[in-house]
Amino acid sequence: MENERREQVERIERLKREKNAIILAHNYQRAEIQDIAEFVGDSLELARKAMDTTADLIIFCGVDFMAETAAILNPDKKVVIPDKGAICPMAQQLFADDLLAAKRKNPDAKVVLYVNTLAECKALADCVCTSANAQEIVNAMDSSTVLFGPDRNLAYHAQKTTSKIIIPVPEHGLCPSHHQIVMTDLLKAKKAHPRAKIIVHPECIPEVQDHADYIASTSGMVKICNEKGAGDEFLIGTEIGLLHRLKKEAPEKKFYPISTTAVCPQMKMHTLEKVEAALKNEKPEVVVPDEIMDKARKAIERMLEISH
Ligand code: SF4
Repeated sequence: MENERREQVERIERLKREKNAIILAHNYQRAEIQDIAEFVGDSLELARKAMDTTADLIIFCGVDFMAETAAILNPDKKVVIPDKGAICPMAQQLFADDLLAAKRKNPDAKVVLYVNTLAECKALADCVCTSANAQEIVNAMDSSTVLFGPDRNLAYHAQKTTSKIIIPVPEHGLCPSHHQIVMTDLLKAKKAHPRAKIIVHPECIPEVQDHADYIASTSGMVKICNEKGAGDEFLIGTEIGLLHRLKKEAPEKKFYPISTTAVCPQMKMHTLEKVEAALKNEKPEVVVPDEIMDKARKAIERMLEISH
């Protein structure tokens, strides 16, 4: 088995060289996918990386909206997602019609959308944001009201640093995986590891956010945990895939998931077999219609300009 795996990884590496391809992987990917990627990061970092690369082919191991973002920012490159079924359920909670209806009701409001949304919605936004920069982006809008979607928990987090009125669209958008992290898990984990610092993702419910020492995006979590003096034990409140990266980068520290059921099945759909097939066949390709592409690109580029 080990030999088979080694040979498979060698084939993938050969295909990457032959095709001038890179693999971009989100922090929630399976460990074996993270280990063969040129770059592992959160959605903001992956968007930047997709723009910087000189590769001709990008194999994107993440969910649909992330791969779409990479395709929108790279119209000249081929972006391929190993499993087209990797569809984020949160992004499916907001459709263009709902957003248009909210805009009609609040004509003076600016629209900030979490990158976890469909390209057709991004095309209607003033600016996109990620969990790393939601507060910064909301504050940069020149309106007193902001329509924010689709995650109501990220809206709660953004509301903390602004006097603007934030209206979540839809009212109850959420990430099913982060909703697995509940207060009983947190209290139990804290009791078992009283010295550990609590770091949670802003997609967690407000009560969990309010009990954390830090609220951060996945890459923000990696940064905090790597800092000297930040402590050597951490309770992590996000999808469990991040634990692989944390343990790899700081093997001397201890990391515990707050909830072991916080798993995103869509993120786990990509496998080494599918990555190899995607490299070989250069499909399934991520294609965004031209008219949506140009408008959505503006909202994404606005975010990249505002957020450094
Ligand atoms: S973790 Fe949540 S927001 Fe992220 S891809 Fe999975 S369902 Fe979507």
